[in-house]
Amino acid sequence: MQVVGPILEIRALRQKLSGTVGFVPTMGFLHEGHLALVKQARMENSAVIVSIYVNLAQFGPREDFRAYPRDLNRDLALLRGEDVDIVFVPSDDEMYPPEFSSWVDVEKVTERLEGASRPGHFRGVATVVAKLFNIVQPSRAYFGQKDAQQVMVIKRVVADLNMGIEIVVVPTVRERDGLAMSSRNIYLGPGERQAATVLFKALTLARQLGRDGEKDAEKIRRQMASLIQTEPLAQIDYVSIADSETLEELSLLDRPALACLAVRIGKTRLIDNLPLE
Ligand code: AMP
Repeated sequence: MQVVGPILEIRALRQKLSGTVGFVPTMGFLHEGHLALVKQARMENSAVIVSIYVNLAQFGPREDFRAYPRDLNRDLALLRGEDVDIVFVPSDDEMYPPEFSSWVDVEKVTERLEGASRPGHFRGVATVVAKLFNIVQPSRAYFGQKDAQQVMVIKRVVADLNMGIEIVVVPTVRERDGLAMSSRNIYLGPGERQAATVLFKALTLARQLGRDGEKDAEKIRRQMASLIQTEPLAQIDYVSIADSETLEELSLLDRPALACLAVRIGKTRLIDNLPLE
């Protein structure tokens, strides 16, 4: 496994690869969720490249960029165990030099949910992913369903800018009690960790109500919110039942829908989602 920083070096290594290249962009502090993406990329491609880069551009001014957990040595050990070919660890200086001025702005799908709660977030995500795609030139790139709106944004970028990269979506990996794995779970104290299970409980409730034939999306949102409010450490940012394709809020469950939520547990903001059949 080669670990590479400079962009010129990764370009040279990439050019020597033949066959398909599977790419997994990450911000590091890897867990089983990230590794599911890597495993699938490994199964489906001749070579696998993983990037580790905590992208300042996607954090708001009052968000956790400085506190975001980092452990490169542990990450590299995990990736060695998955038979990764190249790990790309770019520097801030090369990714965002002082003269940097080109941004990728995706409209519409970014207006709601995470886009509304975190202004500028998807501009940072779309820009860094476009840059990484240009540098790595993968055949396929792997993203988690955990960040469902991010997947939609990336698919838009790839289609709109004619990048010709296949986007593969991997199901959310969860802890035994249903909590979606996330690098941010490390912030949770023991009481908070227990409280955090309320996210998956609310999503499961939505799915069950849908299965039981409830068609009124607002009723489902209200029941999810009531359940979350029983948890004193939880504070709702949003609860959504949206069209799976457009993320527009539904009033009637008459098409494929996604239950999405963002909830603060103490100071930690967690997101999760579950498709409703
Ligand atoms: P991050 O390091 O948080 O930027 O995540 C890198 C990639 O891993 C993104 O495509 C995420 O959607 C994906 N990911 C994060 N957590 C999970 C999870 N629990 N299950 C599946 N994929 C995940």
